[in-house]
Amino acid sequence: AQKYHKVVEENRNLYNMVQDLKGNIRVYCRIRPLFRVEAKSCIDFVGEDGSLVVADPLKPQKDGRRVFEFNRVFGPSATQEDVFADTRPLIRSVMDGYNVCIFAYGQTGSGKTHTMCGPSGGANDQLGINYLAINDLFHLSVERKNIMKYDIHVQMVEIYNEQVRDLLTEDSSVSKYPFLILNLALPDASMHRVRSTSDVINLMKFGETNRAVGSTAINNRSSRSHSVLTIHVNAEDVSGNRLRSCLHLVDLAGSERVDKSEVTGEGLKEAQYINKSLSSLGDVIMALAQKNSHIPYRNSKLTLLLQNALGGHAKTLMIAHVSPESDSFGETVSTLKFAQRVSTVELGAACANKESSEVLELKAQIESLKKTLADRD
Ligand code: ADP
Ligand code: MG
Repeated sequence: AQKYHKVVEENRNLYNMVQDLKGNIRVYCRIRPLFRVEAKSCIDFVGEDGSLVVADPLKPQKDGRRVFEFNRVFGPSATQEDVFADTRPLIRSVMDGYNVCIFAYGQTGSGKTHTMCGPSGGANDQLGINYLAINDLFHLSVERKNIMKYDIHVQMVEIYNEQVRDLLTEDSSVSKYPFLILNLALPDASMHRVRSTSDVINLMKFGETNRAVGSTAINNRSSRSHSVLTIHVNAEDVSGNRLRSCLHLVDLAGSERVDKSEVTGEGLKEAQYINKSLSSLGDVIMALAQKNSHIPYRNSKLTLLLQNALGGHAKTLMIAHVSPESDSFGETVSTLKFAQRVSTVELGAACANKESSEVLELKAQIESLKKTLADRD
């Protein structure tokens, strides 16, 4: 049995190496289905390789077409499972000790909440990444129960106008700091121990109601705030080695640009805060992708809060959501440009050398891991 576990572990390490090779920042694009039958789609082409062509409805000829490229593009017919299949490796790496952030970005109505939570009606056959991810975490913890003991806690907050609000605080099962958490991203938010997927689902439901209650006169607050569901994973293996990691699942505020001449007061303030935090997020991810020495985490609450899970060995996935409707063309292009800016998909040969040195480094790591495993025999 011990030998078997070693093989499993070795495979897992190799698997992670391969995942690492693909880069720590991934950008996907998801196009939701067209709703109005009479409406025209501004999506011209979705390639298997992650490319996407959009066409300006007013200039459908050549100069109105724009090409984008991402790690993956999910067309309107992609299912929740299709999207999750390409997200799953990240979830696995959380269980192996990596910090992971998954962001849903896009204008209001583009499908962010659909991807993260599922349809608003709550149809069980269309559960989103949040549920599927948590389900996977528990599944893996059972699968590995002979080699690892996992302990899982949850936090849920929203960031509205640069203020962080705990969404789980009124729940009776609040347990304050059951263990010492180093570099805790959300030191003030309540921490909840969970033992099953349904525990998490109940907390999420509670958090959602809390979020709704908090919205006073402002309509549609959920699209004007960022919601962050954080899963903390603590693990100890048979020889007493400890792992600590977290998974942040972030449903971002709507990215639509607001016409300043039309909005005043509260709406303008909201729009400015959203604008600031989304561009700060873009700046941070771009600085990480370019391996800059200075990463501007401090420019927004969102990036500050997620700092420990952005950069270093952490893995980031941004899912840019777009609506195919031709009257959303402007917003769609703006979303795709933002996503392209943070994407590490490099065109041309410029990255060839970098990649081969990364390959060499990873090969060296594989060798040293193999040695560690052999030494344990
Ligand atoms: P957002 O959170 O970006 O504002 P929603 O997730 O609420 O957008 O999606 C807007 C509407 O579109 C909802 O009614 C949602 O159920 C529907 N929708 C979004 N994406 C899809 C999809 N991939 N398949 C089917 N319906 C979708
Ligand atoms: Mg939403």
